[in-house]
Amino acid sequence: AKVAPSERVAVFESGMEVDRMARLSLEQDIEGALDKGEFELVYQPQVILDTAQIIGAEALIRWRHPLRGYVSPAAFIPVAEEMGHIHSLGAFVLEVACREATHWPRDVKIAVNVSALQFEAGDIVGAVRRALVNSGLEARRLELEITESAFATDTDRLRETFTDLLALGVSFALDDYGTGFSSLGYLHRFPISKIKIDRSFVTDAPTSSQSMAVLRSIITLGDGLKIRTIAEGIETIEQAQALRAIGCTEGQGYLYSKPISSVAFRTLVTKRPTE
Ligand code: C2E
Ligand code: CA
Ligand code: CA
Ligand code: CA
Repeated sequence: AKVAPSERVAVFESGMEVDRMARLSLEQDIEGALDKGEFELVYQPQVILDTAQIIGAEALIRWRHPLRGYVSPAAFIPVAEEMGHIHSLGAFVLEVACREATHWPRDVKIAVNVSALQFEAGDIVGAVRRALVNSGLEARRLELEITESAFATDTDRLRETFTDLLALGVSFALDDYGTGFSSLGYLHRFPISKIKIDRSFVTDAPTSSQSMAVLRSIITLGDGLKIRTIAEGIETIEQAQALRAIGCTEGQGYLYSKPISSVAFRTLVTKRPTE
């Protein structure tokens, strides 16, 4: 929802995480940045841990700001959510990701982050449908990464949104798993085909016995519910080995590749067998 200019200052004076002036200008800049083409996507490979075979990529947004250089999505996505720009930004990400993925081998999937707000309001079904139609991408290749906050309110509208998206043929991954309430209920109430284990647990593996316990329980849960598990933020061989040893089959992280351009990803993926 848009906030009247007079109300904006008050909003930012309370809840001060980012410097107020920096944030105010960020907020004004997002409006024009889309039109000026300052946003682009990079792609981080997702692999089978046993073979390092690439089976997909996660799209991550980048803002090339003319004055600030690259601005992190961790800084501007929350602002876009507050200001209501997340819907147009989210539609842009879907459009570009689907279009660029059509240049990759057909067995490689594309995972796109979708904000919980896009599920609550706005036309996520329309945005996904348009991205698929405009690009010609097969729907089964598109995976939507959602966080638990998308389930905050279990309404009829939310269920209908899931049903409609599922009918289009896309799949869902539950992002940042382990960091929120990690409620088990919606894992079988909603059609989730993949659990994405948050980087925080991977970072501390294999030395932290607490993190290893959390990792084991999530992987056991996935096995029991027949939901695949992927670990994000794998940086070392030790982490990869520890994850394989406890039955995690898929992974993503700097050990395999940093996020790279669509062209670079295509080169990387065609160098290796995808099947
Ligand atoms: P996320 O969905 O948890 O994405 C993973 C983040 O971890 C990415 O940061 C990625 O670059 C980083 N990463 C990947 N591998 C490693 C690793 O081995 N080590 C370390 N230290 N980091 C790694 P990034 O690209 O800065 O994105 C931050 C967050 O911004 C994402 O977290 C996601 O929540 C959000 N985001 C990014 N792109 C989009 C988007 O298109 N739409 C929405 N709604 N959110 C997005
Ligand atoms: Ca993600
Ligand atoms: Ca994460
Ligand atoms: Ca996330």
